Amino acid sequence: MSQEVLLKVKDLRTEFFTSKTSSVTAVANISFDIYKGEILGLVGESGCGKSVTSLSIMQLLKDTPGKITNGEVVLDGVDLITASDAQIRDIRGGKMSMIFQEPMSSLNPSMRIDKQMIEGICLHTDMSKEQAREHAAEMLKKVGIPDPQRVLKNYPHQLSGGMSQRVMIAMAMSNDPQLLIADEPTTALDVTIQAQILDLMKKIQKEEQSSILLITHDLGVVAEMCSRVIVMYAGKIVEEAPVGILFNNPTHPYTQGLIASVPKLGSGVKVLPSIPGSVPDLSSMPEGCRFAPRCKYATEKCRTQEPPLAVVGENQKCRCWLKIEE
Ligand code: SF4
Repeated sequence: MSQEVLLKVKDLRTEFFTSKTSSVTAVANISFDIYKGEILGLVGESGCGKSVTSLSIMQLLKDTPGKITNGEVVLDGVDLITASDAQIRDIRGGKMSMIFQEPMSSLNPSMRIDKQMIEGICLHTDMSKEQAREHAAEMLKKVGIPDPQRVLKNYPHQLSGGMSQRVMIAMAMSNDPQLLIADEPTTALDVTIQAQILDLMKKIQKEEQSSILLITHDLGVVAEMCSRVIVMYAGKIVEEAPVGILFNNPTHPYTQGLIASVPKLGSGVKVLPSIPGSVPDLSSMPEGCRFAPRCKYATEKCRTQEPPLAVVGENQKCRCWLKIEE
């Protein structure tokens, strides 16, 4: 992994408008970088803002009540927020692509796989339809589909979940993207297929030297795949660290709670601890630290003053008064 930044997210704020004048904030001024050739994990419970972050990066909020109201998202020198629609169409599916959680609902059910793949390849390259078809078959082979010519002629409903996800990965990788955003790419699959798909993504990422933003709530997947991790809670980054440091020395009580709730083989623990309560509603965020209502260490200061995201160790940042004042 190099230290060259591929994607810079700076002070990104995404709001969802419930009327012309009122809105709720799903992503609250977050900043992070993705380096060339790295797999960065973005973790947190459902409702923490992970998927909205990915949709904001991909500029996929158009035609929704969501709007980016602040910040920059710079991919290889181009600010995607201010880029024209034509530039975005060129970049999305080209330099940057996405794998969604539900392959069945992401593939067009009324189109054969060949048509969907060829269209995407022709849009971003100068290949002829015939060349694009050959390339599509090659990509399917690369993702472990044994009979690509047959699968190309299939409609999505004729494929199993694992097969559809392989097709999605082949589609997402077919134009050599520099950045792949994978939003819970294995959640809808059974465990054995999950492992195969993760291995496959890692293998392709290594071969192509691309970068991956891996969004997941599964810390086991993070430990297996990522070099760095960002933990999000209630629309904010609460901790950021290299994966080894995060697992061995989690500093934020939320990260500690997430790690404690992962089953460990041979630990003898019969009942896993859980974090009490749930992620706050976007329309009624607590004052001060957003985690305070669920935190066993919360003090009066935590409930009234929001902690900043501070450097607390080598390459480690944390948003917690306890750690900052230590
Ligand atoms: Fe808990 Fe306070 Fe730290 Fe928030 S700032 S995580 S409430 S100790």
